[in-house]
Amino acid sequence: MPDVTVVGGGPAGSLSSRLLAASGLDVVVLEEHKQVGVPMHCAGMLTPETIRLSGVQPDILGTITSADVVFPDGRVLDIGRRTPMIYAVDRVDLDQKLADKACEFGVDFRYGVKCNRVTTDTKYAVADTNAGTVRSDIIVGADGPSSKVATYVGHDLPREIVVGMQADIRFRMDDQDRMILRLGHDIAPGFFSWQLPMGDVTRVGVCVSPPFRPVDYLKKLISISGLEGMEVIQKFSGKIPIGGRRTTYANRTLLIGDAAGQIKPVSGGGLYPIFKAAPVLCDTVNSAYQLGVFNSSVLALYERGWKRVIGKEISRGARMRDFYLKLNDEQMSSVGEIFDTPDIKESLGMIDFDDPSNIVKPILSQKGVKSGMLKAYLRKGR
Ligand SMILES: Cc1cc2nc3c(=O)[nH]c(=O)nc-3n(C[C@H](O)[C@H](O)[C@H](O)COP(=O)(O)OP(=O)(O)OC[C@H]3O[C@@H](n4cnc5c(N)ncnc54)[C@H](O)[C@@H]3O)c2cc1C
Repeated sequence: MPDVTVVGGGPAGSLSSRLLAASGLDVVVLEEHKQVGVPMHCAGMLTPETIRLSGVQPDILGTITSADVVFPDGRVLDIGRRTPMIYAVDRVDLDQKLADKACEFGVDFRYGVKCNRVTTDTKYAVADTNAGTVRSDIIVGADGPSSKVATYVGHDLPREIVVGMQADIRFRMDDQDRMILRLGHDIAPGFFSWQLPMGDVTRVGVCVSPPFRPVDYLKKLISISGLEGMEVIQKFSGKIPIGGRRTTYANRTLLIGDAAGQIKPVSGGGLYPIFKAAPVLCDTVNSAYQLGVFNSSVLALYERGWKRVIGKEISRGARMRDFYLKLNDEQMSSVGEIFDTPDIKESLGMIDFDDPSNIVKPILSQKGVKSGMLKAYLRKGR
């Protein structure tokens, strides 16, 4: 019998299992697909720090040092710096390398095994799968946005789900250092769109809030970006659970990654939170083993711990997102006008994509910004 069963072999499952195995535990990963990382559902935008935290070196498809942020009225804010803001990484390769590294530490990866149900009793955590029953001391739910394990933990859904769709198109953008982010209800209601240079390929993607459908907005985005009629190499889509879940632990059970709703609400990025939460999960499991107690009173340490390291960004980001969702296109364009000064653009250029809401304070402290924002907010839209 393994000590820990991890459901899901994505980044959350691979890193958690690797750390647990490195600490001396016997760990099994159940992955429903025959391969990790496929089907892909990620733009692959990672900061240098997030890549460092992963502990592997994924293939880099693009290096972005600047961005054109396009507001609904067409105003373009060009922000940038000399060092890389983000890398566009090959996400399938990243997932594969994370899984391979977990296996190097002795993790038993079982492919094609789908967990259908989780239960716990005083002796075991039990995963019922298509390949039989797996008993262990603890189950970690790393099974993504539609987590089965999360259903067991809290019977609660993520507070909000946005849906995204992307296409890789055979086209080389002139500027290989610059991404384009477009805002506005006609472009991406409830979120934003992206266009990333990746050598001879351009990745365009959009996320929207339901009931809007990303497929409709992706079509429009391809046309606006001047990419209509070009070869679409691949298309992929996925859900992003925003705003967290109420509970990320229960008796003998922990959740991590999308299953736990550990997502940055401003950008929809999930990998940085995972890489920060995984060491906390590992420490908590080890504390449980030291005490010989696997119930929720000990596993609660995990939620306290991960909230200490990433909770601030998630709650501050949620407030920023609430503000963003209340803006109509006219108000959003007014914000663009306020931000269109050399000083603010310089501040924006220094944005830390791992902690994007951190930018608010330095920007609001600049002369006239707070009053301008309030005016924009109070302005009646169309
Ligand atoms: C369109 C889009 C763009 C994104 N862009 C970015 C970005 O640029 N940067 C960023 O940081 N984040 C991005 N994200 C978010 C990021 O992809 C997720 O946060 C990340 O994949 C979460 O990792 P995870 O391991 O928690 O879940 P997943 O990557 O979803 O992995 C879960 C794994 O569990 C397996 N599984 C599921 N259910 C079961 C089951 N019942 N039994 C067994 N196995 C199961 C799945 O097959 C999968 O392998 C994006 C998301 C979307 C949708």
